[in-house]
Amino acid sequence: MSSQPSEFPRTLPALDLDNEAFWTGGKNGELLINRCDDCGYYVHPPTGFCPSCESRDVRPQPVSGRGEIVTMTVNYRAWFPDIPVPYVVAMVAIEEQQDVRLITNIVDCDPLSVEIGDKVRVRFEQVEDLWIPLFFPDPEARP
Ligand SMILES: [Zn+2]
Repeated sequence: MSSQPSEFPRTLPALDLDNEAFWTGGKNGELLINRCDDCGYYVHPPTGFCPSCESRDVRPQPVSGRGEIVTMTVNYRAWFPDIPVPYVVAMVAIEEQQDVRLITNIVDCDPLSVEIGDKVRVRFEQVEDLWIPLFFPDPEARP
């Protein structure tokens, strides 16, 4: 798997013990990112191992759901029936830690108005038994 994926996954992710919290936290309105209990480092994609201090005391914890667009592209292919094309595929860095980057869609806005550096906030779209974290422009960050 590439470390810099450029497209949202075409198929839904398979849940496992490591990633289940990330894909289902939206059920309770929470974006859950694995975090190391020992050093506080956020670990994403989710695993039970902290690459910063090598601890295994890593567990999902809710984050603010705020982030910033690091890179983006406008997609014209419809992967999800509920999301009309075109839409924005973006890499969003969470507010808590710049190197935690989520591949997501930017929604609830004109796709052509979205820019790198925009502040965004999470909301969730349920697809089958997953709650996909999507992001929309942070209204407090708009002029
Ligand atoms: Zn750690």
